[in-house]
Amino acid sequence: WGRQLPPYFLLLQCDSKENFLFHRRSDVLMMTPWFAPIVWEGTYNSEILNEQFRRRNVTVGLTVFAIKKYTVFLNKFLETAETYFMVGHRVNYYIFTDRPEEVPKVPLKEGRNVVVLQVQNYPRWQEISMRRMELINSFSQQRFINEVSYLVCVDVDMRFNDQVGVEILSNLFGTLHPHFYAAERQSFTYERRPASQAYVPRDEGDFYYAGGFFGGTVMEVYKLTKKCHEAMMVDKAKGIEAIWQDESYLNKYFVYYKPTKILSPEYLWDDDLGRPEILKKIRFLALPKNHAAIRNK
Ligand code: UDP
Ligand code: MN
Repeated sequence: WGRQLPPYFLLLQCDSKENFLFHRRSDVLMMTPWFAPIVWEGTYNSEILNEQFRRRNVTVGLTVFAIKKYTVFLNKFLETAETYFMVGHRVNYYIFTDRPEEVPKVPLKEGRNVVVLQVQNYPRWQEISMRRMELINSFSQQRFINEVSYLVCVDVDMRFNDQVGVEILSNLFGTLHPHFYAAERQSFTYERRPASQAYVPRDEGDFYYAGGFFGGTVMEVYKLTKKCHEAMMVDKAKGIEAIWQDESYLNKYFVYYKPTKILSPEYLWDDDLGRPEILKKIRFLALPKNHAAIRNK
């Protein structure tokens, strides 16, 4: 039955920061007004969470796209994921690529697999980025639903730099964009043209989420990617593309379908922004890239 705990009223009277009931931070927002936790280092107990998810024998799917020259990112991405991503849990890496021969052979720990999914490319980087919604959607229905409980959908031009574990998992989760986590609603770069399906009015929206890290159960990711892809297709027919491509449609979705958990910018950081005091861990870090050299080639 697990460990013996002292009665809760004793724990509540005890003021020790070491105590597991006192995982809290006073310098950051820990919960949304709709009672979704916001995950920051120091707000959860990974020992308890690992035990819960191990008991369920959960398998996590990590989807990543490496189209055209972006295959160069795969080696560091996979190597660092083996060190930091869902350590001790079952993981399937789903690598969408047009160049399967360029997928590196990285040594994997037990219970972890690489699945290479060959897909077409597109001439424009914007379209490559946006088509991720369509592809994740169709593979969710065909394949992911039979193989994993949760999907984590991320950019590839990144490296893991610290633990990213089961604390991120929930029905539907998004990540605070590192440029906007401390910004006001007025400054969020939502799509502001009413003609676009991604349009968010000035007086709506809670947070600005990053396009490069979201997920949830396969069913919730299926619904999210379906809605976003359909919205993109409606816009495309009218000759419109939202200002930040898939990120704009994702942000629109989260205004009306609130995430059940939100990840702090620890989970998607960019060192161009320095390393502010509130960041106790930098878990997933953008790699510098030469946009002109790597895109549209
Ligand atoms: N991508 C790709 N090939 C491309 C362009 C984009 O595979 O030619 C994928 C890749 O997974 C990348 C994601 O689309 O991480 C988003 O593009 P990018 O990272 O360039 O956008 P940014 O993070 O700079 O906004
Ligand atoms: Mn990126």
